[in-house]
Amino acid sequence: MTEAAAQATDSDPSTPQARRAAVVAACQRLVRDGLVVGTAGNVSIRRDAAHFFVSPTGTRYDALRPEDVPLVDLRGRWRDGRRPSSEWRIHRDLYRARPEVGAIVHTHSREATALACTGRGIPAFHYMVAAAGGADVRCAPYRPFGTQALSEVALTALADRRACLLANHGVLCVGADIEAALGLAMEIEDLAAKYRIALALGGVEILDAAQMRDVLDRFASYGRQESADPDLVRIAEPPPELPEQPR
Ligand code: 13P
Ligand code: ZN
Repeated sequence: MTEAAAQATDSDPSTPQARRAAVVAACQRLVRDGLVVGTAGNVSIRRDAAHFFVSPTGTRYDALRPEDVPLVDLRGRWRDGRRPSSEWRIHRDLYRARPEVGAIVHTHSREATALACTGRGIPAFHYMVAAAGGADVRCAPYRPFGTQALSEVALTALADRRACLLANHGVLCVGADIEAALGLAMEIEDLAAKYRIALALGGVEILDAAQMRDVLDRFASYGRQESADPDLVRIAEPPPELPEQPR
């Protein structure tokens, strides 16, 4: 292979090497952003309909290398790298049940996990709760880590959503790709902190179902360059000259 071809392969985000490297980069970003401490949490990226790359179990992420990242199939068979995360069942069951999911991030981030330790999810106290796909972020009941029982309650709490809390444990976020799942993990942590502060102030106002439906409709076009807004018109002409400023 020529050097140029090798570089093209390395920078192609769809290659196995690139996906393994993306798992490592995501784990290290979670540590840098303060969402993961020690060996808590795990990250996966789908390879295809029947396989995913997942962070290895019990690993400190600062020393993690792409070649440590195993490939797991939907039958629970793994190859390459080190032994998969103890939560591989959650990752397997989500990739099996949710074809739109391309990446999964699980953390024990401080604010969201503290809230989950009260057994509470995040209600519609702020419109950004819709970032998880609905009018709330549910909290799955406690089940021991690494069990099929935990996977089952997590998938139920994630129905029609891209995030849920896990009681006495942590947070689970899914996305079409790893950037979306990481961004949502950050967003949920921020929402949990704001919810805690709002609760401490007292008198939290919860948005009603119609208000949240409206937010979800708005989100469908939010951030897109081609968003339709009849009051906002794009023009090509240069702006008028500024009047001479007095010195
Ligand atoms: P792993 O190190 O096996 O991924 O486990 C961490 C964790 O968060 C278990 O819930
Ligand atoms: Zn965990």
